[in-house]
Amino acid sequence: MVFSRRVLLLNASYEALGTVDVPRAVRLVYKRTAETIVRDGTRVLRSQHFTFEVPSIIRLVEYVDVRRRRRGQAGKQRQRILMRDRMRCQYCGVRGTLFDLTLDHIMPRSRGGRTEAENLCAACIVCNQRKGDRTPDEARMPLLASPSALRYGLDRAVLHHFALTRPEWRPYLFLDADAEINVA
Ligand SMILES: [Zn+2]
Repeated sequence: MVFSRRVLLLNASYEALGTVDVPRAVRLVYKRTAETIVRDGTRVLRSQHFTFEVPSIIRLVEYVDVRRRRRGQAGKQRQRILMRDRMRCQYCGVRGTLFDLTLDHIMPRSRGGRTEAENLCAACIVCNQRKGDRTPDEARMPLLASPSALRYGLDRAVLHHFALTRPEWRPYLFLDADAEINVA
């Protein structure tokens, strides 16, 4: 099914931004908001009057400042990290909700730990307080998730998954500057 195919969306700088579905990608190209970089084989999308070549990779014609945008989405990022961790405290495994789980800095901020996806995990309030300003090792609170699962969290996990079946995407997936995540 052509409609269920995903299209890799690149910024004007060729930085990977994420994926969109085929109808959205075709609309972006049709409006000249984006241009096709790589076609999806010989797939086409037919309407009554038109035939569109289905893209595999498209690139925005004008640069979008994603960092600034993402800053406004801090709440969404929190939600996505909690979802990445499947709503479970990554220390004790207790299941929580968007309302009672917290984000823990795995390497504490006071020790130079950065506020980015791979240094953040879901933690229940009890574990977050118990861990305090210590590393997981010092607190003897090993993480349930492997570090690589955290490193490739969020969109990257999805993109890497797609990259297995879409070899033409691979050259573009490693340009993505790690998104800054701002969590109050
Ligand atoms: Zn816990």
